Amino acid sequence: MCGIVAYLGKKGAQPILVEGLKRLEYRGYDSAGVALLGGGAIRIKKTGGRISALEEILDEPDSRETLGLGHTRWATHGRPNTINAHPHLDYTGKIAVVHNGIIENYGTLKTWLQNEGADFASETDTEVVANLIGYFYAGADEAQQKQSDDQNKFEWAVQRALQDVHGTFGLAIVCSDFPDMLIGAKKGSPLILGVGNNEYILASDAAAIVEHTAQAVYLADNEMVTVSSAGFHTKTIDNVAVSKDLKQIEFSLEQIELGGFQHHMLKEIFEQPKALSTCMGGRIDRANNRIRLGGIASHLRELTHTKRFILTACGTAFHAALVGEFLFEQLARVPTETEYASEFRYRNPIIEDGTIVISISQSGETADTLAAVEQAKERGATVLGIVNVVGSSIARATDAGIYLHVGPEIGVASTKAFTAQVAVLTMLAIELARRRHISTDEAARDIDELSKIPDKIGRILEQSDRIKQIASANIDKNNWLFLGRGFNYPVALEGALKLKEISYIHAEGLPAAEMKHGPIALIVDGMPAVFIATLGPQYDKIMGNIAEVRARGGKTIIVATEGDENIRQYADHLITVPDVPELLQPMLTVVPLQLLAYHAAVLRGHDVDKPRNLAKSVTVE
Ligand code: GLU
Repeated sequence: MCGIVAYLGKKGAQPILVEGLKRLEYRGYDSAGVALLGGGAIRIKKTGGRISALEEILDEPDSRETLGLGHTRWATHGRPNTINAHPHLDYTGKIAVVHNGIIENYGTLKTWLQNEGADFASETDTEVVANLIGYFYAGADEAQQKQSDDQNKFEWAVQRALQDVHGTFGLAIVCSDFPDMLIGAKKGSPLILGVGNNEYILASDAAAIVEHTAQAVYLADNEMVTVSSAGFHTKTIDNVAVSKDLKQIEFSLEQIELGGFQHHMLKEIFEQPKALSTCMGGRIDRANNRIRLGGIASHLRELTHTKRFILTACGTAFHAALVGEFLFEQLARVPTETEYASEFRYRNPIIEDGTIVISISQSGETADTLAAVEQAKERGATVLGIVNVVGSSIARATDAGIYLHVGPEIGVASTKAFTAQVAVLTMLAIELARRRHISTDEAARDIDELSKIPDKIGRILEQSDRIKQIASANIDKNNWLFLGRGFNYPVALEGALKLKEISYIHAEGLPAAEMKHGPIALIVDGMPAVFIATLGPQYDKIMGNIAEVRARGGKTIIVATEGDENIRQYADHLITVPDVPELLQPMLTVVPLQLLAYHAAVLRGHDVDKPRNLAKSVTVE
């Protein structure tokens, strides 16, 4: 995963590329670079480090350089340093490439190209693509003889090279002999062409495009686009013309800017009331006590009669899926399993008739989840998606789906997407329960409670400063436990993951009762244990677990229900959430844990929106 941005137009490309890279920096930030063309040779500037490091080495922009490529990298092959940074130039010096993805057969291709006389400078898989295109381009005159006239040498060489490449790619490519031409190609990594007024921006994410135009072409796998000042055409990589519609990019520039918050993550935590209102707004039909999910309307009968759900996801979305499992089983009474997509795809899963697979991914580009979708489809399952990014690969690969509609999520640590994933799963579970066995009155009660969730999240956010004090009081502690039961067990996992991701503090999330089967050995004097101990069926049980931690000197940070005075005496630190039925609690109880992780990371001086070693959408295996 990384960010690609390329520009062809009338303006100087450099500032546009840098601005675009900044908007994509959440996707990868271990090195960055640009290639610029203004007639003549390709000029490359690149460096290890962030976009800010790149800016320091850039020359004054040259307005004649109206074509260029930019890249912010998240290394897969080769260390993050200047040589391995993209763009990569081929051995003839004519072809420059930026790449997102992994070239799986790069070793074989590299050996072969070296035998053919091609030099390599970097350790990356990407350089193989540059050299392969360069190799075919150099021999194109002869080899291309049989090709049709409408195809230029550059386009032919790209297509020829991609025939030999195995793996995933989003590519943007330029050639110094064609200073008015930009080629993009996609397989397994996202690529979008923004079509402006006499200008084009090719990027891996609409965030880099919206500033310039809201019109875009979304490339599908195995498609490529050739852009020049005269216009653009799309083809398959095998040279079959495909016509693509211009689509409207749905979010605005304002939505991706910080709006007064110090970090995207904090902004997104605070956006949750509004985001959930938007997510649920048009879908809750209060007059008829129904949930209307347009995206899956044509599958409702099948969903109602399904025998089994498999929910598959990675990371935070996996925790949302675990909440979904509780909801589908307890409320809708459908047997449900949750699987890590990375495991599901390789373990020869059994899919019987009547199984529906639901894949959950914020970006809709998560490589493992996408592969799980394909695996499930091959085995004959109906596959639904719950994704945020409209038109993303998973949205397109699934039979039907439900969008989160929470706007772009930029912070690498997912927050509003999690609560919205849970909200969507809750809506689906309520509607299925209503269709299967609960009375309309019961459904009406759940729907009523659900519609109040956004306001109730607002009440939790008011405690942000107090949560900061709690983080501060424990900031020197390097091991934390997060414990919950029932619906709040996945929330404990999510709380621990948030803390790990951005504050680099070791944390374990557990079902509270499991603690005594091992992890209790970790508890030492002063070790923080975060309990989600809200009122519900397992309240008394978790009180027992709290006592066990206190007896061993652990410090308790307790997320409890507003008005529960009893619990105060057991809490070293108390955070309250409004009272809601247990099945709706995860959308509330996760919020203080997001804030706790956020404040801990800031107090430790970390770059919250760009945590080390992580990237936003994991488009590699
Ligand atoms: N595999 C390429 C590399 O390591 C691209 C990684 C990326 O998507 O950022 O350079």
